[in-house]
Amino acid sequence: MPEPRRVRIVIVGGGFAGIGMAIRLRARGIRDFVILERAAALGGTWRENSYPGCACDVESLLYQFSFAQNPDWSHAFAPQGEIWAYLQQVADRYDIVPHCVFGQNVTGAAWDESAKRWTVTAGSTSWSAEQLILANGQLSDPVIPDLPGLSTFRGRVFHSARWDHEFVLRGKRVAVIGTGASAIQFVPAIQPEVERLELFQRTPPWIMPRHDHPISPWRRALFRALPVASRMVRGLQYLRHEVLFLPFRHLAFRRVAEWIAGRHLAAQVPDPAFRARLRPHYGIGCKRILLSDDYLPALTRPNVDLITDPITSIVAEGVVTDDGRTRMVDAIIFGTGFRVTDPLLAPHLTGRDGRSLADAWQGSPTAYMGTTVAGFPNLFLLMGPNTGLGHSSVLLTLEAQFEHVLGVLKLLEERSARTVEPSVEAQSRYVASIDSRFARTVWLTGGCQSWYLDRTGRNSTLWPDGVRRFRRAVTRVRPADYRFSDA
Ligand code: NAP
Repeated sequence: MPEPRRVRIVIVGGGFAGIGMAIRLRARGIRDFVILERAAALGGTWRENSYPGCACDVESLLYQFSFAQNPDWSHAFAPQGEIWAYLQQVADRYDIVPHCVFGQNVTGAAWDESAKRWTVTAGSTSWSAEQLILANGQLSDPVIPDLPGLSTFRGRVFHSARWDHEFVLRGKRVAVIGTGASAIQFVPAIQPEVERLELFQRTPPWIMPRHDHPISPWRRALFRALPVASRMVRGLQYLRHEVLFLPFRHLAFRRVAEWIAGRHLAAQVPDPAFRARLRPHYGIGCKRILLSDDYLPALTRPNVDLITDPITSIVAEGVVTDDGRTRMVDAIIFGTGFRVTDPLLAPHLTGRDGRSLADAWQGSPTAYMGTTVAGFPNLFLLMGPNTGLGHSSVLLTLEAQFEHVLGVLKLLEERSARTVEPSVEAQSRYVASIDSRFARTVWLTGGCQSWYLDRTGRNSTLWPDGVRRFRRAVTRVRPADYRFSDA
């Protein structure tokens, strides 16, 4: 292997997290960094997910960088292409592209205690860096379940996050497996095209009205002329989303939310027997609450079958369920989500004593402020453990993490130290306080299986509170919680 390329900071991943971090680093005068991106373009999840109907389910005014607000969103909930274009434009405008090295699929990283540096491996290239920032996303490794017989299927097979745009849907019989946030967006988009849509539902989602609408040209002109106007709307949206946290913690608010979702279901699905199959039997919010105005109506169309019998196998012609029936199809589309609580990189990232992150986590990811990990010096995780949100824009927590990273880097410089990591006690205290706040939330009491929970049953994905509390805790760095070394 050739000599590692030396740089001060390696950022892994060129999505919202990597681009935003890069902008903030440059704003602080730090230029000696690279973004290693496995693909040939920036954009992260908004480049990878190009399925029909893909859009954000958080309003775009809130789902954008606070320091690079776009007055020109076409809709309240912008479609994927627009968000991807926004990210590319922002990267251009802030001169981030020259920092990017494309085609770098990072497969491992090891801390070298004698050199006090990270060695990052990306295929046949390696990088040596003082600090390593993982910005590779929580939802970047798609999962296709290992269904018996899948390899014998004669038609097309693909995952929603790897949409096969060559495949012509018109006139085809298509099986869709999964009814999560992705499927409920692409099902109504492809339903009018396909001849038959066989939708395999294991657990019905709770669905709330979305109320998407175009943003009128005069309003966009107003936002352009008076940025304070869009900031005000954004502020109101932020407050509204903070209120939306209440059902996750309090049963009375949960009942109200279930009543609203129940009315939405009743209004969109007139047949009571069909409706009963679509009504969830767990507390709202236990799994991600979905927003849609067109998913349920699409299911009532004559070319759609909702199948709730469990899938037992796949055969050459189609999908077999436990009632013995085979649905003959030309393609199977998996909307089956991502690997979240056991990230692929974790076993291949080793800290000070040669222990991997996966070993340290033992199936339950933890980090101080969701960002730093004891035993892993100079490592920062963006969108790390317990930073996700079920009720608001994750960019709000992400931006607090940027400030945390900058704060720690500043302390390093001020103390002329070479390494920094949280103390074991600070990390344990932080994790214990988060875990105690989960106790009464719907995520643990709602009676569902969700990807928020890891294999130990702990919610290691979400932040258990409102956004304001996260920002207050994470933005500010407490030096006493960190250990520095200058040796
Ligand atoms: P997901 O929420 O994990 O949903 C996966 C679906 O596949 C579920 O319905 C699940 O059923 C089903 N499934 C999984 N394995 C299965 C199996 N072996 N047999 C049958 N069904 C199976 O995945 P996703 O829809 O891709 O969404 C993932 C996350 O991405 C979301 O929660 C959200 O955070 C994000 N997302 C965001 C947006 C946005 O607009 N911002 C859009 C799309 C996705 P069970 O429920 O029974 O497990």
